[in-house]
Amino acid sequence: MKELKKIKFIFNRPERPGMVGDGFRVYNYFPSGNNIRKEVSPFLMLDFGASFYFPPSDTPRGVDVHPHRGFETVTIAYKGAVAHHDSAGNSGIINSGDVQWMTAGSGILHKEYHEQNWSKKGGDFEMIQLWVNLPKAHKMTPPKYQELTAANMPKVILPDAKGQVNVIAGDFNGTKGAATTFTPVNLFDMKLKAGAEIDFTTPLTHNTTLLVIEGEITVNGEKAGQHDFVLFRDNAEGISIKANEDAVLLVLSGEPIDEPIAQYGPFVMNTQQELMEAIDDFNSGKFGKLV
Ligand code: MN
Repeated sequence: MKELKKIKFIFNRPERPGMVGDGFRVYNYFPSGNNIRKEVSPFLMLDFGASFYFPPSDTPRGVDVHPHRGFETVTIAYKGAVAHHDSAGNSGIINSGDVQWMTAGSGILHKEYHEQNWSKKGGDFEMIQLWVNLPKAHKMTPPKYQELTAANMPKVILPDAKGQVNVIAGDFNGTKGAATTFTPVNLFDMKLKAGAEIDFTTPLTHNTTLLVIEGEITVNGEKAGQHDFVLFRDNAEGISIKANEDAVLLVLSGEPIDEPIAQYGPFVMNTQQELMEAIDDFNSGKFGKLV
């Protein structure tokens, strides 16, 4: 077996969730509260909307029109369904098991809501939104979407029906992920049955982390429980997981982007000057129109 990564630390979710609009009740693991920007690069932000019951509503809850520039937003729907509309006329629904990989690039306006029919019925809602930085050379790339559906997601089924790994991005033991990325990123959605054991590697050059969405696991010899976030050291490549009960995990790893970060809300650039330009472009309507 490969030498195992050491664990740098494990922390649980922040005490209180925040609201993004009125539809996304999320725990922010970083950057707010945890000063780990360097250790999690190329990931800029992780909002985890842990399972929460939303009662029926005729008016879908969500977040109204807002811009993004300079990075990618990755939305993973676990429970419930998210609808989105953008200034380029695109719209779509992210259903349970689907992933939307949106490259904001040079800039987009969009809105994100509970899907209308789902909203009318209400139910448990669980999702993740991850922001992935773009390297300087691609910050102004044209906006695009990758709609990665559950049905088309590359999967690895574990022996004895002990679970499966949905390879959203990167390379899981030789199985290539669904997403095209600008820099090397692994994103693995793991659903494990109690007793499942799984071994894999992420490159030494990557920053590697893991979020326990549900259940309890033992990872590289340490216990990680529900909503724990694990940050690995880069001493070795190996990760060895045992599910102590049925568990859902998200493994994130990526090549760090060693460039300056200038952020103002939904704009993430390299310099203050570029931020000013982003604000000017937004104010003068260059991000398009969406009502
Ligand atoms: Mn957004």
